[in-house]
Amino acid sequence: MHVRTQPSTLEKLIQIADATEFEPAGDQPEQERRERYQSHSLAECISNVSTPRGKMPVLKSMMTTACERNCYYCPFRAGRSKTKRVRFTPDEMAGALDELSRAGQVDGMFLSSGIIKGGVTTQDKIIDTAEIVRRKYHYKGYVHLKIMPGSEYDQLYRAMQLADRISVNLEAPTQARLEALAPKKEFTRELLDMLMLAAQIRREHPHEKLAGSVTQFVVGAVGDTDLELLSLSGQLYRQAGLKRVYYSGFHPITQTPLENVAPTDPLREHRLYQASFLLRDYAWEVEELPFVGEGNLRLDLDPKRAWAEVNLAETPIDLMTADREQLMRVPGIGPKTADAIIRARRQRKLIDIGQLGKLMRAPEQTAPYILLDGQRPAQQLRLF
Ligand code: SF4
Repeated sequence: MHVRTQPSTLEKLIQIADATEFEPAGDQPEQERRERYQSHSLAECISNVSTPRGKMPVLKSMMTTACERNCYYCPFRAGRSKTKRVRFTPDEMAGALDELSRAGQVDGMFLSSGIIKGGVTTQDKIIDTAEIVRRKYHYKGYVHLKIMPGSEYDQLYRAMQLADRISVNLEAPTQARLEALAPKKEFTRELLDMLMLAAQIRREHPHEKLAGSVTQFVVGAVGDTDLELLSLSGQLYRQAGLKRVYYSGFHPITQTPLENVAPTDPLREHRLYQASFLLRDYAWEVEELPFVGEGNLRLDLDPKRAWAEVNLAETPIDLMTADREQLMRVPGIGPKTADAIIRARRQRKLIDIGQLGKLMRAPEQTAPYILLDGQRPAQQLRLF
């Protein structure tokens, strides 16, 4: 007689190893996807993730791959027969993390879930798992928890106490775009308000160590423009103190309503990240970004260089007199390089491009947009 045994927790993790393929967990989402293992083994649900604690292997998984909602882009949507439905109890998931971390295979956990019996019940399971991880196993590693749509204030607060990072995925930049992507999700009440609530909780508990917030957009499936995505990103960096906005280019999944929609060009994702950093780290306003046509960024040029072509090519910046903010407008000059230039020019006059080689990686990038000693720097023609 053939006796069918239940799969172990680790076997179940392997069964859904690619479940979080499109869910970034750390600070370098593009790299994270590249560094995912493709082994159809446990290693496939472990990603090398850049976290605020450094780069580390992180277990990425879901409490369940079953879901009662029907988001049009999602492999876990209700009714999709191709999806393998797997569930974990909080004890199972926490135990698996403990086992893997004791074996030296992971240093952190990213935990998401399909929604069963509503967002609040599902959120409880995620929080219960994190409680066991922190209290029973005294786990001190990196924990990133997904916040389910419509979770309650107390759940959000507890998740922020237990985790290093929480994500509330907006998926789309407006209610109308969300309706075309995920008709059962409520843009403001279930998602946007949650990000604002997290910011409020941080303000209410200024001395507590609470998780930072991130969000994610599904880019390019329903006509969303870069202007829409970046306008909301800029607003959230300012008003909700977001650490990161993730832009996940749409990938069609068979047996979903969007299966015939073309995938998003990965270069669009990349340009959105570049523009998003200008908003977050360089104090740019969204109106300053060089949108073209319907409100999208050029794909052929990074947004900072596209801006410089219009604004600095004819009126270059004098490296000896520009302030820090002006310096950071020049392609090739970031916050660290701007500081290095300011320090260097206190010591001596910057008069030729060779001096810049000691201060930055690619000084030739800056040459068309700067003055050295009041003159445009002589540029060597590239032979190759
Ligand atoms: S709620 Fe989440 S898991 Fe469920 S269908 Fe939507 S995106 Fe997928």
